[in-house]
Amino acid sequence: MSDNREREQNRPPADEVVRVLDLYETREKIYTRRLKGFYRSLRNWTWIPLLAGYFLLPWLNVDGRQAVWFDLPARKFHIFSLTFWPQDFMLLAWLLIIAAFALFTVTVLVGRVWCGFTCPQTVWTILFMGAEHLWEGDRNQRIKLDKAPWSAAKVVRKGGKQLSWVLIALLTGITFVGYFNPMRELVPGIFTWTAHPAALFWIGFFAFMTYMNAGFLREQVCMYMCPYARFQAVMFDRDTLVVSYDAKRGEPRGARKKGADHATEGLGDCVDCSLCVQVCPTGIDIRDGLQYECISCGLCIDACDAVMDKMGYPKKLISFTTENAVEHGKTRVMRPRLVGYALVLLVMATLFTWTLASRVPVEVSVIRDRNMLYRETNAGLVENIYTLRISNMDNREHRYRIVVSGDYDFIIRGDTEVTVAAGELYSEPLSLMLDPGFLKEGTSSVSFTVTAVDNPALKARQESRFIGPSLGVRR
Ligand code: SF4
Ligand code: SF4
Repeated sequence: MSDNREREQNRPPADEVVRVLDLYETREKIYTRRLKGFYRSLRNWTWIPLLAGYFLLPWLNVDGRQAVWFDLPARKFHIFSLTFWPQDFMLLAWLLIIAAFALFTVTVLVGRVWCGFTCPQTVWTILFMGAEHLWEGDRNQRIKLDKAPWSAAKVVRKGGKQLSWVLIALLTGITFVGYFNPMRELVPGIFTWTAHPAALFWIGFFAFMTYMNAGFLREQVCMYMCPYARFQAVMFDRDTLVVSYDAKRGEPRGARKKGADHATEGLGDCVDCSLCVQVCPTGIDIRDGLQYECISCGLCIDACDAVMDKMGYPKKLISFTTENAVEHGKTRVMRPRLVGYALVLLVMATLFTWTLASRVPVEVSVIRDRNMLYRETNAGLVENIYTLRISNMDNREHRYRIVVSGDYDFIIRGDTEVTVAAGELYSEPLSLMLDPGFLKEGTSSVSFTVTAVDNPALKARQESRFIGPSLGVRR
């Protein structure tokens, strides 16, 4: 009996391998190998545009101000030509719910592709690994370098890597704070030591977190810290795409000579080269079955396809597939859970878009003078005093006309046209007067309508009360 066959007979079947995870075990450093392939290229098409967007967006200006600017002191969020106020908080909450349902829908359909291709933890880890690769070389060179005694060359390589990491982390921190502090003021402020100490603190904090997460913790964030990694399994079903090893075809695994008829040696297609493990950013062996550490990056597929090509075997020993495809040869795309998530997502996205499109960027509030219900003027008129607050939530200055309507023709004292700058809140005292002889009741309703002179669609209305002496007092 060949060694291979003996070894294979003693190995438990792939689906019976039980991995015991000790939360206190010392982490084994993962040295990933870099290989070209379809999924690596696909990842380049996601992480590069995402990072470019993150770093460049705060430098983009629209309407004379930063295009994306979360102005916390003024409690205003500017997103391109839209400005959101605290009153729009519901829209933000809505947006987060839509994002959550989008993630659920994608997860049911294609598993953890969010983790493998777009999650910030993954994207920054790819960037940090790129810097590591640049300074220390590929897997074998890095292993050799770590084992080598300290020398000038080792100091240069390790130092260069650390310097690159610190620079990337600092750039990340500065950019993050730049979304809250105008970037074009923040950056000169850093170099002239005039930046606000709070801004410097947050830059340091986010730089440190980036350095730790992408430089050192890496896959441990996915394994021990990320809540999504914990609950995504409940969204999986037998038709969800996962990265899977075809054990029926691959086992028994074992080394063989190229061109040898491995079937006669009793071997499957897996040559046990361990390349799929060496490229895995979480350091797992996908041949042990689906594991929660797998972030569906597809790099093991690239590695195995390259091996299969070399051996002259068909590709896809490891592939993106579903449990049903493996067992019954077909996958059901439309299933109740997916349809449910997709429908909720569609309805919420439609409502959100409609609310956003019909949102009127002006608000008016009317506050009655709390010190007295009414007063009588020297001319014998009944007078009510109000404070009008007009919020211009648009990005342009507007002149607003104030119209008062109600049961009577009130005499208005105060400006009936005011100019409010973009993003400003304007307060104006206004009083309404009426001959008490016209009053039919003690109180009556009155409404204040504010309309932009240059755009009648910008209109807001607020109801209030006009209070006079009761009928008994007047008699
Ligand atoms: S097992 Fe494959 S798909 Fe999963 S994380 Fe590792 S390399 Fe990526
Ligand atoms: S890369 Fe493919 S052939 Fe090599 S060990 Fe992994 S599954 Fe087997």
